[in-house]
Amino acid sequence: MLGNDPILLTPGPLTTSPTTREAMLRDWGSWDAAFNRITQSVCNDLVDIAHGRDDYVCVPLQGSGTFAVEAALGTLVPRDGCVLVPNNGAYCARIVRILQRLSIACVELPLREDEPVTVAALEQALAREPRITHVAQVHLETSAGLLNPLDEIAALCKRHGKSLIVDAMSSFGALPIDLRTGGIDALVSASGKCLEGVPGMGFVIVKRDVLDASEGRSRSLALDLYDQYAYMKKTTQWRFTPPTHVVAALRRALDTFFSEGGQRARGARYARNCATLIDGMQALGFRTFLCADAQAPVIVTFHAPRDAKWNFAEFYAAVRDAGYVLYPGKLTQVETFRVGCIGAIDVNEMHNAVAAIGRTLERLGIRVR
Ligand SMILES: *Cc1c(COP(=O)(O)O)cnc(C)c1O
Repeated sequence: MLGNDPILLTPGPLTTSPTTREAMLRDWGSWDAAFNRITQSVCNDLVDIAHGRDDYVCVPLQGSGTFAVEAALGTLVPRDGCVLVPNNGAYCARIVRILQRLSIACVELPLREDEPVTVAALEQALAREPRITHVAQVHLETSAGLLNPLDEIAALCKRHGKSLIVDAMSSFGALPIDLRTGGIDALVSASGKCLEGVPGMGFVIVKRDVLDASEGRSRSLALDLYDQYAYMKKTTQWRFTPPTHVVAALRRALDTFFSEGGQRARGARYARNCATLIDGMQALGFRTFLCADAQAPVIVTFHAPRDAKWNFAEFYAAVRDAGYVLYPGKLTQVETFRVGCIGAIDVNEMHNAVAAIGRTLERLGIRVR
């Protein structure tokens, strides 16, 4: 079904289905009413996936996920706001850098890369810094594959009257997120992760009244979420050139998503992929970086073998030649590598990937234990 292309075991870009890729075989004009209806239907579906139909709108944005994160922070946080950022990985650190560039006050809550944030730690941070107006939380820290407890964090923000902006980039579509329970003002994700579209479009699902209050706030023209929304509402068109093929592919990917059974079915498939991967890798002698409780079924970090012959670049190239693309580690302290379990793949691909890794280790003479 996937031909001879390598299987991407990476958290986006990832392996897409042939039907999703096929949806990109025609061109669309940005004035085309049919194209703009596709955009609208995509946005409606994205809001529905998060159960936000009544109070939330979806604003799509050209670019990779980071563009949408930066647009959300730069548009939704007032200039005199102060953002608490629990930091357990590289994507949390990226939020801190964005806030620094925007000259928005920010308080970091430093955590280990294998340590999910806790309500107690957040509560202490809020008590220490009464200036805090917002919390910017990464739901699934893709740098280790770590899951933060979003429901508890949302409940806490609601209790304390803090505005919560969630980077749900690598969880949206796979893990349950229900905006009806309250506490979340904005949710950011992108086309090319668990929705299994191609990369190129981010989106922010935001409370309508929060967005309405943000007119004129963004200091960036291209990343002004309010402007993007207002223009689209008025004209039905994208402000600036739309990523037409990406939108068409996302429409097709969403059709597949719903026919698969929506978020629950997708999450269940990824969980099976993840369990198959971890079982197979443990049988080869590998150890996971995270404990099972903190591990999300999206990407798994493994400790690198201690063997002196280990060289990730060489190992990567050999596994790539066998048809599987792995991912380097992104941790600061220990040597690791990562294997994704998302995309249009199932347990067969995971079994085959583990077998290819086993053969590669043997061929390169690397001992894992
Ligand atoms: C992928 C990802 C992003 C966005 O990264 P890009 O390189 O801009 O696509 C942001 N946050 C998380 C948690 C991610 O996994």
